[in-house]
Amino acid sequence: MDKYIYADNAATTKLDMEAFEEMKLYLLNEYGNASQPYSFSRNVKKALLHSRKIIAKGINAEPDEIYFTSGGTESDNWAIKGVESTNAQKFIITSQIEHKAIIKACEDLEVIGNKVVYLPVNNFGEIDDNELVKAIARDTSLVSIMYANNEIGTIQPIKELAAITHKNGAVFHTDAVQAIGHVNIDVKELDVDLLSASAHKFNGPKGIGFLYVKKGTNISSFISGGSQEFGLRAGTENIASIVGMAIALKNNLEHLEENIKHVQYLENILIEELKSANIDFIRNGTNALPGNISLSFKGMSGEILLHRLDLMGVLVSTGSACDSVNTQISHVIKAINCDKEYAEGTIRISLSKNNTLEDVKFIVNSLIKIIKNIKSA
Ligand code: PLP
Repeated sequence: MDKYIYADNAATTKLDMEAFEEMKLYLLNEYGNASQPYSFSRNVKKALLHSRKIIAKGINAEPDEIYFTSGGTESDNWAIKGVESTNAQKFIITSQIEHKAIIKACEDLEVIGNKVVYLPVNNFGEIDDNELVKAIARDTSLVSIMYANNEIGTIQPIKELAAITHKNGAVFHTDAVQAIGHVNIDVKELDVDLLSASAHKFNGPKGIGFLYVKKGTNISSFISGGSQEFGLRAGTENIASIVGMAIALKNNLEHLEENIKHVQYLENILIEELKSANIDFIRNGTNALPGNISLSFKGMSGEILLHRLDLMGVLVSTGSACDSVNTQISHVIKAINCDKEYAEGTIRISLSKNNTLEDVKFIVNSLIKIIKNIKSA
């Protein structure tokens, strides 16, 4: 992997080494089923409890408000469908720029008769509080707004949106998959009812995540079976991955401020160097998640830029990696009304704590070279 510069950290991140080492123990030695009463499972049960505590502490929740899932997609689907099934026929409010895990879950519910309002965003990807106030006047059961957008990084005013939602008696969910482990998140301060997270976005393993469910929130179980996860999410616990997720989150949060500073420093250099090379581009989004850089280059094709960067050993994305088979302009770039001359030339560079100044210099120089070459051809 050393021959590549990995700058697609919004798609996934490198596994934390300490998490990996600890995971091996639970895969090879302490492999007992956490539900069994014998002594061999005692350490496994302890690890499950301990991990739940670490994760809860990381977002200022209580341990019994953390429900382990298979990742962001499951957490999002559970939040939407689990609340709705307790509130049949009421409105759901979400936004036009949510991840497909939310949008498709809402579409599933529309098929069976639920009504969904997809709030618009402005050119920066921000939701206007007043749009929510207008929409929520209808009989609404659930509002789901992402904490930070995966394509353009825009962070939403979650605390304000949750307050409006509660004033109107509805439940508030936020998809914080991109944000957890990268900015400080305090569920009590935000006063959200439900929050989704996925470990591989914060240096944990893939296929594991969690849904925070505030005590007292009315939500039905999503996967039926055994009594794991307080009877709401059945299935033998993936202990190794849960342990790995907790360690990865703890390690990221312990160095949060320095990671943010480092990534923002690199981000500024990248933007300034593009500007001084007189490259014609727009930076999408505002108040963006540190390291999430969505750029639209005038008259370019994002796909061509991605492939040429790949040939030079630089890995970026054209938008959402989870949707990379869909090569049209993404629903997010459409929703922010990006100028047509720029929209097709959109790429997302997502930097992490592991990227260096040399990485960023190489990325920006490669980009400048590619764009100048295309222009002069
Ligand atoms: N929500 C957001 C904002 C995401 O960025 C992603 C993945 O890119 C998901 C949900 C889905 O997470 P996972 O792929 O871990 O299921």
